Amino acid sequence: MPSQTPPPPAPPAPPVCAGCGAPTRRVADTVADPASLHDDLADRLAKAPAVASRGTTALHAVEGLIMAGVGIALAEGGLAGHTTVPTVGGTLLALIALTGTALVVRNETRGRAAVTAGEPRADALWRPAHHCPGCASVSCPGGEPWQGRLTPEQFRKLVWTEAGYGGELEERARTADVPPGTLPRPRGAENHV
Ligand SMILES: [Zn+2]
Repeated sequence: MPSQTPPPPAPPAPPVCAGCGAPTRRVADTVADPASLHDDLADRLAKAPAVASRGTTALHAVEGLIMAGVGIALAEGGLAGHTTVPTVGGTLLALIALTGTALVVRNETRGRAAVTAGEPRADALWRPAHHCPGCASVSCPGGEPWQGRLTPEQFRKLVWTEAGYGGELEERARTADVPPGTLPRPRGAENHV
């Protein structure tokens, strides 16, 4: 008896760029392509800033505590030998190490928390986006959830700002202007981007 299983459907053709007519590619696929590392495209289209992992932060904390320990040992040696320079130097080293470590750990923890908190919002704007290799623009098929064609810098500014970590943008993307009306607004929220 012949099988009635229909052939698997062909994958849908990629959406075509409204600007230049070239086939587009999902931003997620573009970023995942190793070739995108060469021309900075992976960074320019990144969904979020790179943040230190918990393990990295723990390592920084351990390094700072070791430095502080060295400072304390030095200061103790100075006290025992009644010498001023190691006492003062060791105490300063310990204080600087502890203060610096506290700042680094706090900043890294905050950065990680901001990216985690903004992830759903960023993903909603980033995942449907397509990149056009023909004219280097980014757009969403059907204009959903945002409209128009943006440069990678405008796109990243839109995503990062909406996700709440726009302060992490470097100069090139921070100064990009996202055209008004890119993101259809519910009433009363026009001034966000
Ligand atoms: Zn194009």
